[in-house]
Amino acid sequence: MGKIIDQIKQGKVLVSDGAWGTFLQQKGMQPGECPEEWNISHPDDVLDIAKNYIRAGSDMIETNSFGGTKFKLEKYELADKVFELNKAAAEISRKAAGDKFVLGSIGPTGKILMMGEVTEDDLYKAFKEQAKGLEAGGADAIMIETMTDLDEARLAIKAAKENTGCEVFCTMTFEKTVNGEFRSMMGVAPTDMVNTIIDAGAELIGANCGSGIANMIGIVEEIRKANAEIPILIHANAGMPVYQDGETVFPETPDEMAQLVPKIISAGANAVGGCCGTTPEHILQVRAAVDKK
Ligand SMILES: [Zn+2]
Repeated sequence: MGKIIDQIKQGKVLVSDGAWGTFLQQKGMQPGECPEEWNISHPDDVLDIAKNYIRAGSDMIETNSFGGTKFKLEKYELADKVFELNKAAAEISRKAAGDKFVLGSIGPTGKILMMGEVTEDDLYKAFKEQAKGLEAGGADAIMIETMTDLDEARLAIKAAKENTGCEVFCTMTFEKTVNGEFRSMMGVAPTDMVNTIIDAGAELIGANCGSGIANMIGIVEEIRKANAEIPILIHANAGMPVYQDGETVFPETPDEMAQLVPKIISAGANAVGGCCGTTPEHILQVRAAVDKK
């Protein structure tokens, strides 16, 4: 049993980190720049993000590697730098983490299997290459996230599981439909996800991104109903993004987010953190809410 899962099995609720993408933009990353390239060109800025989340009380922090497969990096002509950029990402977070955990972030490739844009083998190889870079840089776990296609999620989990010694986690992104049901963009329900990704080897599952923490309560309840044991992690956005004065704004305040943390935990979540729009202040308050529980 891995170290993170071990702590959860001991009954601890773990606090994760908040957004990286929006934080990089605040630090001056321009549209059209490759976020992962910043691990080499602006390592101190990336390190500062990691340190901010550790200072806010995170038990685990992610890495700046969400778009680190060759399929994302080839848009910036960096497809030959997959291993290097992911290793650097994990090294930076490792440096900030101290005795806390590092989750090596892996996001979707942007390629759609069903449309024949890639084969299963292409995806497996791409995720394998990324996961190995993250492990080499010191990641404790591989955090496969924002998945909407169950097959892509399954292949990413298998690739990480079969080629690294890291714990392997996976969260998918769900929205509420007009009928009030939770579905991923590719039509996957939380309950459809559970068995497939556990069978593929995910040791912790859950949901990330989406439209705010309130919806996450229902998602956690559905996952918990389908499986009483599996550790659940939630990385919630700071609400539904709104377009205001030419920029995207995430409306949920740290206080609003923290108020719902006890409900998320009661529903069955074992780890809570933020996704898009959340800040160290959100995590600070989530930490306080978890500690009060
Ligand atoms: Zn997000």
